[in-house]
Amino acid sequence: MLKCPNCQSKDIGKIGINQYYCWNCFIELSVSKNMINTHQVEEDGSLSSLDDLFDEEIRRLSL
Ligand SMILES: [Zn+2]
Repeated sequence: MLKCPNCQSKDIGKIGINQYYCWNCFIELSVSKNMINTHQVEEDGSLSSLDDLFDEEIRRLSL
């Protein structure tokens, strides 16, 4: 079960292949190689990475 690395919420919506959206804190999540990558949507629609804010251990998918 996917969990938001930012707010620990499980209220995650799927928006594309390996792409998810956290409805609780409004960040985008994408999954590759069992790691969750986190992105913030900027006002101009571009994505900026938030991965620096989280430890790898938190972002690793627990399967
Ligand atoms: Zn969240």
